[in-house]
Amino acid sequence: MRLVSFFLLTSVSLGLTKPLVHDVAAKELPTWEIRSVSSDNSTAVPASNTASSTLQDCLAAKNVPVYFIASPGFSQLAQPYNLRLAYTPAVIVVPTLASQVSDAILCAAASNVKVQAKSGGHSYASFSSGGKDGSMVINLQAYQDIVVDPQEYYAAKVGAGVRLGDMALSLYNQSQRALPHGTCPGVGVGGHATHGGYGYTSRAWGLTLDHVMGADVVLANGSFIHVSAMEYPDIYYALRGAADSIGIIIYFYFSTKPAPSSVVNWSYTIPGMYDSAAKSAAVFKKIQDFALNPSIVDRKLAFG
Ligand SMILES: Cc1cc2nc3c(=O)[nH]c(=O)nc-3n(C[C@H](O)[C@H](O)[C@H](O)COP(=O)(O)OP(=O)(O)OC[C@H]3O[C@@H](n4cnc5c(N)ncnc54)[C@H](O)[C@@H]3O)c2cc1C
Repeated sequence: MRLVSFFLLTSVSLGLTKPLVHDVAAKELPTWEIRSVSSDNSTAVPASNTASSTLQDCLAAKNVPVYFIASPGFSQLAQPYNLRLAYTPAVIVVPTLASQVSDAILCAAASNVKVQAKSGGHSYASFSSGGKDGSMVINLQAYQDIVVDPQEYYAAKVGAGVRLGDMALSLYNQSQRALPHGTCPGVGVGGHATHGGYGYTSRAWGLTLDHVMGADVVLANGSFIHVSAMEYPDIYYALRGAADSIGIIIYFYFSTKPAPSSVVNWSYTIPGMYDSAAKSAAVFKKIQDFALNPSIVDRKLAFG
């Protein structure tokens, strides 16, 4: 049996928004406690997974807030969403300042350590754990700001550690605005907005990624820049689909949509859909034909 969910938007406006004019300087949060390195770097962990003394010294010299393997809280921070792909980072950085991200990247580069951003941590392949042991994970959990600017066509500045559920609630509560995105509230905006972001409103509004107007990003050379269609357009383009290979985004700037005044959510159970491959294929074909029939379906109707 398969439950097919439907979602109908009403009062949808498809008007385009003007690019946001904004302050490039990211709002910085108070500096967090700097976790010290324990004297015991755990014999249970292979030496190749631990941070070298050069890397530790570099991070300490620049006051970058970090958790090493032996630090209290490391295991909790290192836990992946997919427990079958559990990698052990050499160090987890928990920045509150863009300069700390920059310093951390430069220290990692000097020690030839892979750097990986982590937002909501929902990568099925555990990419945000580095995708292998011994990486530097930059955990963006401190970046939780969500600010909608009514003076700038309701553009939203969103910290790269924000989860989708918090973002949806905050956009609505601040200005009755919305974005297209997936349905799991715990997914992070960092991975979602850089790799796609498909949800109930995507037939009408597109992907989350389509609404990224700009970003504040730290690049591999440690520089901190703002990118948009006008500023560093090649990097702006590359971030939307390949951010992991380009830089660490600290803030996103989104064009938002007026939230629908109401939605209708319903579901229909298709009995015996999985009885055979042929029946499943026939059901999918029927749904596909239905979805493509403009005389009965428009983009306000979604399937999930
Ligand atoms: C339960 C569940 C439900 C899901 N539902 C949907 C859905 O309805 N629709 C949909 O489209 N997708 C869905 N997904 C997929 C999800 O959108 C992706 O896995 C997404 O990449 C997760 O984002 P994250 O920030 O939580 O993950 P993370 O693991 O933190 O990051 C994923 C990748 O993005 C990179 N990244 C994260 N933040 C940044 C940053 N600030 N700068 C640069 N790179 C960064 C990481 O390095 C990593 O490679 C779902 C996933 C799960 C586990």
